[in-house]
Amino acid sequence: MTIRVGIVGTGLIGEDHGRRLAGVIRGANVNAVADVRRERAQEVAGVVGGARVFENGLELIASDEVDAVLVTSIGETHAEYVLACIDAGKPVMCEKPLAPTVAECERIIEAEAAFGRQLVIVGFMRRYDLGYRHVKASLERGTIGDPLILHNIHRNSVVPESYTSFMTMTDSMIHEVDVSRWLLDEEIVAVQVIPPKRTPKAFPHLQDPQFAVFTTESGILSTVEFFANCQYGYDVRCELVGSLGTASLVNPALASEITAGQDAEAIPADWRERFGAAYTAEIQAWISGLERGECVGPSAWEGYAATKVVEVGVEAVKSGERMTIEYVDKPALYR
Ligand code: NAP
Repeated sequence: MTIRVGIVGTGLIGEDHGRRLAGVIRGANVNAVADVRRERAQEVAGVVGGARVFENGLELIASDEVDAVLVTSIGETHAEYVLACIDAGKPVMCEKPLAPTVAECERIIEAEAAFGRQLVIVGFMRRYDLGYRHVKASLERGTIGDPLILHNIHRNSVVPESYTSFMTMTDSMIHEVDVSRWLLDEEIVAVQVIPPKRTPKAFPHLQDPQFAVFTTESGILSTVEFFANCQYGYDVRCELVGSLGTASLVNPALASEITAGQDAEAIPADWRERFGAAYTAEIQAWISGLERGECVGPSAWEGYAATKVVEVGVEAVKSGERMTIEYVDKPALYR
């Protein structure tokens, strides 16, 4: 059986995921697309081998021609589409964030809990990156002992002027928030943001770099340096310090070049290059799960928890204070 996927939002990542679904993912094709930019949807319909272009996302979700939905429109629209998928009883993979506000995420987990079965997964692809999986395996083997500190680095070459100091939390560090929760298997209960000296290479309105300290339930610290305009490429690092040793991400090398007196390794230009394989693994796991009648991937609860942390994180950016985080009770569906 081929799963017929409809894509709502055919921008940068919608097109990327469309190419994956049409080209390398087994068991699925893209037969429907929708975007507020109709010409863009038409373009991507061609890229994926000829999908039907729907008037809007809600019509696509309601269509009998669509078995599962990929939501890759802008974050502000996610809740409406994910809730429509739950109403229609259709599986949905929603790119991060599940929704930009905690209130919307709560509506989604309530609706899914009332539906009684998991339909929603959230696109936290780092969980599928081989390096992060090895760090998690080290922890699970027990060889590095008890986890004490997680150091994260997330650097971007440059960002546009529209990027704000709050987006360091909501758009970027949300990935480290999810990685911390997933690797350590604990909720984050506090966050503090300490602004370092600013780079002269950022627009004046942007605090860059940004530095955050997240604390988990048992007191493990997860530090994040996010540097939006580091100039040299896309660079993601992670070291988990345990009581007996450490486990670190080894970034995949693209190629190395040896010239007079130098051995140089290329650095990925952006997230698409660095995490391309992880996106493919994430979508394949989702589709293969659907073929078995299962919903495989980070749940709506994981999406809610990440949005909760970054929403409080934005307040921590404003105040500079250590802010505590409290969650609603986890519905039985997610336990
Ligand atoms: P993008 O290039 O701006 O694409 C989003 C598309 O959705 C645009 O064509 C946009 O049109 C369209 N859109 C806006 N409102 C819509 C609506 N109501 N219904 C349908 N389509 C609508 O953004 P992107 O970079 O692809 O990001 C999309 C989502 O993926 C975001 O939530 C982002 O955070 C997430 N993302 C995740 C990762 C990751 O690493 N997991 C990486 C990149 C992006 P307009 O331009 O006219 O608004």
